[in-house]
Amino acid sequence: MTKKLGIIGGGQLGMMITEAAKNLSDEISEITVLDPTENCPAAQAGAKQIIGDFKDEVAILKLAEQSDIITYEIESGNTNVLSKLKAKIEPSPSTLGIIQDKLSQKIFLSENGLPVSQFYEITSLDDLREKIKDLGLPVLLKSRRDAYDGRGNFKIALESEIEKAYRHFDGKSLMVEKFVDFKMEVSVIAARNTKGEIAAYPLVENIHEDNILKMTIAPARVSDDVINDAGDIAKKTMEVLKGAGVFGIEMFVDQNDKILINEIAPRVHNSGHHTLQSCKTSQFEQHLRAILGLELGSTDLVHKTVMCNILGPDGFEGKYKPVHLENDGAYLKMYGKDISKPQRKIGHFNVVDLNDSKNASELLKIADEIKNSVTIIPLS
Ligand code: AMP
Repeated sequence: MTKKLGIIGGGQLGMMITEAAKNLSDEISEITVLDPTENCPAAQAGAKQIIGDFKDEVAILKLAEQSDIITYEIESGNTNVLSKLKAKIEPSPSTLGIIQDKLSQKIFLSENGLPVSQFYEITSLDDLREKIKDLGLPVLLKSRRDAYDGRGNFKIALESEIEKAYRHFDGKSLMVEKFVDFKMEVSVIAARNTKGEIAAYPLVENIHEDNILKMTIAPARVSDDVINDAGDIAKKTMEVLKGAGVFGIEMFVDQNDKILINEIAPRVHNSGHHTLQSCKTSQFEQHLRAILGLELGSTDLVHKTVMCNILGPDGFEGKYKPVHLENDGAYLKMYGKDISKPQRKIGHFNVVDLNDSKNASELLKIADEIKNSVTIIPLS
């Protein structure tokens, strides 16, 4: 019997889930998204839209009335409301609840024997000073909730910065973490279906600037030992987390090749966009297969790929001309967002080694050339 799918969040992730859902028409008959922006990217891809905030109880209840199964593209859904719904929610609200709060996420991971950087809860400025005495500088002070793309992080390198960092968060609940001197950021996109089967995509390398993902290199340029360690950690993480779906497991590789988990996203992930062309099963289809209890698809990397985000340029907010790529070896995906804002993710492209003839440096060079040729031109 086909199911009606509800998605909380209709941005680019909701859009790509919608596109994958339309290809699974034997399983999914209807797609509805909840998103505050009228004609959001997922609606442009063909989903029905309920306009409302992700935390709005009435809007969530309306979504639940129209859905047999609900999933989400963002972590900030209202878990109190979600746990009361009759519609099935995947990944489960209890898993979402653990992950939503960076502190409870880190406690959960360390209690399950998974490696994370040393961390503490922070309850006051004096408490922060005390904890820094123990951790040493530098540290990252983090907002526990509703923080993404590094927006809730403040690096403290000097003692003189402690008070400014604390005041910056203006009463938000906080945690502090030892700064990891990493040599690389990597991630594993992994899925578990409702039957408990687990599948993970190969390890990828992520390049961030200003805390925002700029590029993903698939596969990561690391030793076999690092690949195996990261794979074991990802598998163990999936075993302890409840709920079905795709998860993005972000990790650091430190200077001694030790892996530490930075953060888990209970959803499809920006560093998995390469799978649209590099793998037989995209992370979006995999997510749907997982929550519907279907057999998981192949996670083999068929083509080396570099994914590059297209971000809104600094100093401009407004409508822009459609973006095209000159290079036909690259796959462009624009998200249909009307307005560009500084650092806003408005699209991405994948440079795919279709003929298995290029190494990562060559792919990166092509990606750089394309990136430099993509200009966001304001519409006057
Ligand atoms: P987050 O939003 O917490 O995932 O952090 C965004 C980015 O901040 C990460 O991708 C890292 O580049 C950086 N970051 C977060 N935590 C740490 C840490 N403990 N040490 C060093 N860098 C970090």
